Amino acid sequence: MIPAAPLPTQPRRWQQLWRDAVRDPRELLDLLDLQAHAPAMSPEAAAQFPLRVPRSFVARMRRGDPHDPLLRQVLPLDEELRPAPGFGLDAVGDGAAKAGHGVIRKYTGRALLVATGSCAINCRYCFRRHFPYADETAAAGGWGAALAAIRDDPSIEEVLLSGGDPLSLSTAKLVELTDALRGIPHVRRLRIHTRLPIVLPERVDAELEAWLAALPWPLVVVVHANHANEFDGEVDAAMRRLRAAGALLLNQAVLLKGVNDRVETLAALAERGLAAGVLPYYLHQLDRVAGAAHFEVDDATALALHAALVARQSGYLVPRLVREVAGDASKRALAHPDGRAVPTVA
Ligand SMILES: *Cc1c(COP(=O)(O)O)cnc(C)c1O
Ligand code: SF4
Repeated sequence: MIPAAPLPTQPRRWQQLWRDAVRDPRELLDLLDLQAHAPAMSPEAAAQFPLRVPRSFVARMRRGDPHDPLLRQVLPLDEELRPAPGFGLDAVGDGAAKAGHGVIRKYTGRALLVATGSCAINCRYCFRRHFPYADETAAAGGWGAALAAIRDDPSIEEVLLSGGDPLSLSTAKLVELTDALRGIPHVRRLRIHTRLPIVLPERVDAELEAWLAALPWPLVVVVHANHANEFDGEVDAAMRRLRAAGALLLNQAVLLKGVNDRVETLAALAERGLAAGVLPYYLHQLDRVAGAAHFEVDDATALALHAALVARQSGYLVPRLVREVAGDASKRALAHPDGRAVPTVA
């Protein structure tokens, strides 16, 4: 007798929306009434790192505006192909820091799991354009090697799920991981770094909320929005569900020329985040990855922007301005050339 096949699991709504993402740059330009701007779009850049953007994120872009700050983050442009000295393939030294399959232990007490290589969106400035991480993810092989690496190192108190985007994994797969982590007594905190609640807020469904609510550890979710326009009612609802599940919400942004390199823009981002229950955490200087040079803001400008933020808003609305330097024991705060440290929130 032929054994009954297991019932196929229904794809979740967010998975359908994920698959329905815009991947053709021409379609994106059509949707935004920007057909006339097609010449700036680069098929070569798109071949290097494809366009991918969820439709609900496209809906937050302004029609007819080629400089829209959300559009700039995803549209493949000719500028990416211009060679730029100092911009390479492994900008943050992760190639050297991998301790086990998909586990990066760079900082004391923390293990970062490259849970998966997938994302719902392809951000042009991302190191991921060169690291699809196809063979090195922690989820491979039922999390076995990653769990062993955490179990064997009692100094690891905090597990960070990162990627790619860890919430691109099915909730069942995430449950598998945290069920195993419960058995490791030195793990005391869980942190999730994810852009999905921003770019595909439908990901935060009842199933995800139930998983998070049942976790035994203090939970921090670090989302990633670079501009206030990335928030809308759906994103607010996703943030409410995350908070209802007990998560503390922080935002990390990347300082990007033409996207958020004005003090008003950064202030508006912090304020809009607060309205959704998210406090700023880090403002990153760009990782110097090949193809992203046109997004770079020089350090003097970055410091001046940061100082202006410190001068005008509440301390808790000021992110720490940092850069990741290979070999450092933590993210490095940007410093003034005369050696004064940048004022950051404590
Ligand atoms: C950024 C990062 C962390 C977390 O650093 P925090 O300063 O605690 O946010 C941990 N591990 C790696 C590899 C990182 O890149
Ligand atoms: S969501 Fe994050 S990891 Fe994914 S492409 Fe964007 S910046 Fe990179």
